[in-house]
Amino acid sequence: MSFRFRPKSFAALFSSFALAGSGCSTTTKTPNMSFICATCGEEHHDLPAIASAAPFQWSSEYANDTNSLLTSDLCIIESRDYFIRGVIQIPIHDYEHTFDWGVWVTQKKENFELYREHFNDGVQIGPFFGWLSTKIDYYAEDTLNLKTRAHFSTNRTRPLIELEPTDHLLAIHQREGITLAEAWKIVHSYDKK
Ligand SMILES: [Zn+2]
Repeated sequence: MSFRFRPKSFAALFSSFALAGSGCSTTTKTPNMSFICATCGEEHHDLPAIASAAPFQWSSEYANDTNSLLTSDLCIIESRDYFIRGVIQIPIHDYEHTFDWGVWVTQKKENFELYREHFNDGVQIGPFFGWLSTKIDYYAEDTLNLKTRAHFSTNRTRPLIELEPTDHLLAIHQREGITLAEAWKIVHSYDKK
């Protein structure tokens, strides 16, 4: 499977998305459950996560900027905008695990620094407010700048991103969950990009 670079598009940011979870979620999912997919007709086992490698606001021009930074978990743009990567978990009614979107949210500089400082020491921080900074184009309504709260763990896993409980379909999915068939439909919508 190959993905071409298209600047600013979701597909580009998701060009490193890892089917089977290797690049995204820090948890390894090991269900033994197989599922006949309504979208492709194949039998599936592990549900992959879909993740973005950078915030929407990131651009390759920042790569050489000494006041900007992009790692797999942190992003700074021109010492002005601060982002962290987290996970939006979507419950699945008929499956033992969640479907995970790997996304970026903004953070105040102070909170960003707290996260960076306490990532390894088990100190509980947050939750902290942030604006969603990933465009998930599976959803017709823009996901950019949805209001979120980042909930931090003390065990070096990525923060869980809780959406404001609006009527945006993504927020509804997080609140109410989806079926496994829909989760695979989402995954396949990124296969082709
Ligand atoms: Zn399928």
